[in-house]
Amino acid sequence: MKAVLFHQHGGPEVLQYTDFPTPEPKPGEALIRLHAAALNRMDVMVRNGWPGLKLELPHINGADGAGEIVALTPPLPAGEGQGVRANAEEIRGLEIGELGVGDHVVINANLGCGTCEFCLAGKDNLCRDWHLLGETIRGTYAEYVSVPLRQLYKLPDDFDYHRAAAAALVYQTAWHSLVKRGNLQEGETVLIVGAGGGVNTASAQIAKLIGAQVVVVGSDAKKLELAESIGADILIDRSKEADWSRAVFLATNKRGVDVVVDNVGTTFMLSLRALRKGGRLLTVGNSGGPKFEIDNRYIFAKHLSILGSTMSTLAEFKEVMDFIVQGKLQPIMDKTYPLQDAADAQERLWRNENFGKITLDIG
Ligand SMILES: [Zn+2]
Repeated sequence: MKAVLFHQHGGPEVLQYTDFPTPEPKPGEALIRLHAAALNRMDVMVRNGWPGLKLELPHINGADGAGEIVALTPPLPAGEGQGVRANAEEIRGLEIGELGVGDHVVINANLGCGTCEFCLAGKDNLCRDWHLLGETIRGTYAEYVSVPLRQLYKLPDDFDYHRAAAAALVYQTAWHSLVKRGNLQEGETVLIVGAGGGVNTASAQIAKLIGAQVVVVGSDAKKLELAESIGADILIDRSKEADWSRAVFLATNKRGVDVVVDNVGTTFMLSLRALRKGGRLLTVGNSGGPKFEIDNRYIFAKHLSILGSTMSTLAEFKEVMDFIVQGKLQPIMDKTYPLQDAADAQERLWRNENFGKITLDIG
């Protein structure tokens, strides 16, 4: 198959568009012919590498992908040997067999082991042997990928692969954070720090779906205009308001917001100031870097909660993908590149030039 891979960590120049062996589906896995992959900032971080990251090189980036099932191997009955490849008719009737060859699917990159206490309790994002597709396992910048059947969501045949791939990681991440961890309620006010990222736009849409009021702090007028177009109620331009916590305070009648979505990290102090007493700060990432200072007095004196999470459970993924397929949540699409131009696509993402999701077209 054709794939974009790298043999050593480094800048965009380490990415090579080349031939690589097509994976074989293990028992309980489906082989997907990918048609679209979507980019996440994590892709670039993995390509750059970090201390302690252990990969089997060459590595293939990419957590998000959508395509068609071309082969599957049934799960092993307990205690038996090799799984056997089955066609669509044979696989139906198996417990896990709602999926068959020819089905259009989108992948959930959140790979739990399926057997630990947390996976068995349906909390697979707390798995003791957790992996993320494209991070420690070869990902979706390729014509084919093989993943466990439980990771797949069946798409309507006419649903656009690019929209599905663009939605998968960011919407489940935003859904778990806002709805499950943050318990966001109708009528509450949520502040989103940053206007352009995929999780931020997904968070804004989910908050509106729940019936919350949305405040967005963005880096320039153009990104804020786009935030407004997806329903943001109050817009704050941080190029004009360096201390935007004060602007949020004033915009909420000196009350503060109920919830902040802060995936920057280095902005935590401003976010803590913008919260009302008893408010919740949600975080799923650290685009501004991993280390920063917090004044602890704000946390206890204001009764604040800081809630972290990453990805979602398999059940929540299906919940939120239903809204995507129904059109109630619509991923914001930025730009599409051919697979072989993945390096250019990553550069656009890393320079924050995008609004919404960048995808790769895999033919
Ligand atoms: Zn597990």
